[in-house]
Amino acid sequence: MRALIVVDVQNDFCPGGALAVPDGDAVVEPINRLASQSPFVVATRDWHPPDHGSFASQGGPWPRHCVAGTPGAELHAGIDRGRVDVVVDKGQAPDREGYSGFEGTELKRLLRSRGVDAVDLAGLALDYCVKATALDARRAGLAVTVHRGATRAVEVQPGDGERAVEELRAAGVEVVD
Ligand SMILES: [Zn+2]
Repeated sequence: MRALIVVDVQNDFCPGGALAVPDGDAVVEPINRLASQSPFVVATRDWHPPDHGSFASQGGPWPRHCVAGTPGAELHAGIDRGRVDVVVDKGQAPDREGYSGFEGTELKRLLRSRGVDAVDLAGLALDYCVKATALDARRAGLAVTVHRGATRAVEVQPGDGERAVEELRAAGVEVVD
């Protein structure tokens, strides 16, 4: 049984958002295509308290983004919600990074209960939350395929996206276009 995990395709990570990933909304159409072919689709949302430790106001590396319940935290309007079976919110603990969809969530149990043994991954951002979610999926014993064309990288340092791909491949993740 395969599942598609759509990582953090939220307004704040798309152009015009608080922490926009370059070209971030370009993932929407390829993700909808993947979702239309997937028997089970999970969408994660970065879902932070207002004082999350990753925010610059708290000494963290990022501008305030994806505060729970705000418009910036909503899924991009282009995502076909009719194809999303479950939404998993992450990053709710103030003192944890929460990059991975598996960190502090029910995702592992959810996938196990559905008999999922292989996951397809797409979304934002390749070099942070997609990477962390893919690595945790491998640690959970799942076969993992990242659909690179349905991701975009933040590239705080140029080349971070390519380095993420190398790290994923070294961990046994299949990376396809
Ligand atoms: Zn975040």
